[in-house]
Amino acid sequence: MSQVIARADADSMPSVTTERGERAVFCGLTSIIWLHRRIQDAFFLVVGSRTCAHLLQSAAGVMIFAEPRFATAILGERDLAGMADCHEELDRVVSELLERRPDIRRLFLVGSCPSEVIKLDLANAATRLQGVHENRLRISAFSGSGIETTFTQGEDQCLASMVPDLPAAPEESQRLMVVGTIADIIEDQFRRHFAQVGITDVDFFPAARADNLPSVGPGTRVILAQPYVSDTVSALVKRGAKLISAPYPLGIEGTLAWFQAAAAEWGHSPESVQEALAIPIARAQKSLVKARESLQGRTLHFLPDSQLELPLARFLRDECGMSLIEVATPFLDQTLMAEELKRLGSEVSIVEGSDLDSALARVRASRPDLTVCGMGIANPLEAEGLRTKWSIELIFTPIQGFDQVADLAGLFARPLTRERQLEVGSWS
Ligand code: SF4
Repeated sequence: MSQVIARADADSMPSVTTERGERAVFCGLTSIIWLHRRIQDAFFLVVGSRTCAHLLQSAAGVMIFAEPRFATAILGERDLAGMADCHEELDRVVSELLERRPDIRRLFLVGSCPSEVIKLDLANAATRLQGVHENRLRISAFSGSGIETTFTQGEDQCLASMVPDLPAAPEESQRLMVVGTIADIIEDQFRRHFAQVGITDVDFFPAARADNLPSVGPGTRVILAQPYVSDTVSALVKRGAKLISAPYPLGIEGTLAWFQAAAAEWGHSPESVQEALAIPIARAQKSLVKARESLQGRTLHFLPDSQLELPLARFLRDECGMSLIEVATPFLDQTLMAEELKRLGSEVSIVEGSDLDSALARVRASRPDLTVCGMGIANPLEAEGLRTKWSIELIFTPIQGFDQVADLAGLFARPLTRERQLEVGSWS
């Protein structure tokens, strides 16, 4: 059963409708796939069921690694006999793992859905195990359960679990912290651009190495590379950090405004940032031309999935000429999305939450040229002759920054180009 609540926003802001109902998204365990690639000496130990193990294996593709960095401790019937047994078993598994893998510098205990796992207090288990392995590595716990998290929220929970371990920054030190997982290549580009605009004290959270924890305090300025880190931001703000309000670094305009928002905190004008970044901006403008030709004038519908929907919609409308039919997102954090909401403006209709049946009915009624959705929904829509783009691809692909603009647009252009080729092929 679904409930629809409409609320009016200021005149210049999009109208937002909230839906409650069924959803079809991956659980937070999925985030382990990109998190373990980013934090290269971390290990993710899922405490879960065979279903969890299967999800991780299929999401990660080929999984025959000599030294994997995630695993599932499967709770069997025997473990249900008593919680004390479960804790002993967990301690034994962790001790064996750490003995075999001296390279691991951060261990995450990851909770899942089965009721026997929910009964286990993994946060307490992490504290207990930290005491045992104090000088060896850091241990924390978070939930990737499908009952509590969608796939991008898994990253938020993971990062939030690390915030208590961040060292305190000296009061007078002003540093920038970029929050949200990005590919190493994007980090390099961003460091270069920050230096060009006059900011050199930059940390990335999470960093490629688990021990490389940024310090946090009243001088910390936080800017987000990913929009789905609400709990992490709250934890950082509690430790004194200040959030910089900015759009997300997707597309040329979003990326430029993102650097300008950060630079303003260091007293640099928007004009000086535009001038310092003129070369990558010009390169990005040139690279976007071809993909824009395929996207111009085409209609687009976002189903709620990744939480990247608003910045992507803004980029595809403003820089690629697409026409937005509906932009749905699983959660709308008005603070973290303030700049995107302003840019989208009152013409756009946003749906927060999910009621799968009514969302699909609207897609079928409007038959957009492209629907951005989860993998499970894409195939049925394709079978009905609708073109789709899997939103999870946008998490696994480096898409932030100037140099990735053409790749980002290309991800949306490809299904439409392929369709045209099929049409031409069927007539020749
Ligand atoms: S955490 Fe829950 S939703 Fe995710 S794979 Fe395990 S059982 Fe399924």
